[in-house]
Amino acid sequence: MIVMKFGGTSVGSGARIAGVAEITAQTMAKTGAPPVIVVSAMSGVTDKLIKAATLASQGDRRAFAQIRDELQAKHEEAIGECVPNAEYARSLKAEISSLLTWFETLCLSIATLGELTARGMDVVSGMGERLSARVVAAALVSHGIKAQMIEATELIVTDNTFGSAVPQFEATTAKCAQRITPLVESGVVPVVTGFIGATEDGIPTTLGRGGSDYSATILGRCLPATEVWIWTDVNGVMTADPRIVPDARTLSHISYAEIAELAFFGAKVLHPKTIQPVVQMGIPIRVLNSFEPQNEGTLVSAVSLEIPIIKGITAIRNLSMVTVTGSGMLGVPGVAGRVFGAVARSGASALMITQSSSEQNICFVVKTSEANAVVKSVEKEFELEMAHHDVDTVKNQDQVAIIAVVGAGATGNPDIAGQVFTALAASSINIISIAQGSTDYNYNLSIVVSQSSADDAVRAIHSRFQLDQI
Ligand code: ADP
Ligand code: ASP
Ligand code: MG
Repeated sequence: MIVMKFGGTSVGSGARIAGVAEITAQTMAKTGAPPVIVVSAMSGVTDKLIKAATLASQGDRRAFAQIRDELQAKHEEAIGECVPNAEYARSLKAEISSLLTWFETLCLSIATLGELTARGMDVVSGMGERLSARVVAAALVSHGIKAQMIEATELIVTDNTFGSAVPQFEATTAKCAQRITPLVESGVVPVVTGFIGATEDGIPTTLGRGGSDYSATILGRCLPATEVWIWTDVNGVMTADPRIVPDARTLSHISYAEIAELAFFGAKVLHPKTIQPVVQMGIPIRVLNSFEPQNEGTLVSAVSLEIPIIKGITAIRNLSMVTVTGSGMLGVPGVAGRVFGAVARSGASALMITQSSSEQNICFVVKTSEANAVVKSVEKEFELEMAHHDVDTVKNQDQVAIIAVVGAGATGNPDIAGQVFTALAASSINIISIAQGSTDYNYNLSIVVSQSSADDAVRAIHSRFQLDQI
């Protein structure tokens, strides 16, 4: 069984959704069995839903009404393009309208209460997938394919960490066996809403922005699937974001470890948690272009190839570097443990950590949105030491980015770091901090630079390793 996920641009219009039906028909012809389809919201829809709920919580009662109209029009236009049967199209539009009425009711209560909880946000932000999945299922049926829309709230069981819920695989496996397997066995294509799930008690949750990729691998593991195919708007995983490096190349293969690293450090092509559910079972992932389905795409699997040495360069932005400095930290055991205990208590996690050899300072990088809370928490932890000047300052520097240079082939290669630093120096880019991690099967050199030089840094390193020529 194959799970295929279509991203926002791949379902971004009626014509694109008709393309999804065509790809599904071709896949069925090739594999002789119905795939399980996972869909994102139409591009831009989730942003609008979040905006509507946020403005409603600030008392704005007009924005959500206007957004409702825009979403109704967007989906009706798509239906017009991919569901030719007038009667079918009419009933589908009515279904979309009743979901949007529910969206308006939710926003009205948010505006009335003047409060938006994480739980409420998940109900609203997950509606885009509930709209698009209905249209995709109808387009499949219009294409002569037996299909049925299924809400992931009936399938993916999660905890109640609203906004980035954690899947519970055992419960999800049981639901998949009940709901999905019989459908597929009877020749029906299930069209599942990406991004969303529900707690055991049925309370809706979301898996985090960009989480439909994660939905696909969660289902891939629980069914289980033989492969998971992620259909997007580029030819696969590339050596860098093509929006930053126009001559970036598509990789024919990348390992789980490498893509996990690239995704964590900003390669938006896959959600950072996508790999987790399938690594253990070794289920391969293919990243494919729905605009050019004939291309081979990228195969993601456990195999670690050493060529090219560097697989990719990414940048993650909107970060802050926090530095804890003090001569009294020298040789005192447990300081780092206390620092990161305080970071954890603030609810943040450090993306990168460095410590100078004299032990007089510890630097780490967190999201800027979390930096103030982190600094306060660390200051509180070291209140006594700060009063005695054993710890002098806890400072944060905003507007930084981490550049990550990733590739299994660089492990044990003494030349890589030197080349990266030469490339940055030649472009007059100042390095704020460095960390390197290397295992038998992966390598990551992470460099903190000012956010304003992040794009130049990615381009300089990409060009130094001639990644446009692989
Ligand atoms: P989808 O809606 O299909 O999930 P996304 O916008 O989430 O698509 O992800 C695809 C985008 O990821 C591409 O259009 C590209 O700009 C961006 N991207 C960033 N880094 C990379 C990379 N290393 N390889 C490919 N695409 C990347
Ligand atoms: N629609 C959701 C988002 O925009 C999930 C996804 O597209 O993967 O974040
Ligand atoms: Mg995505």
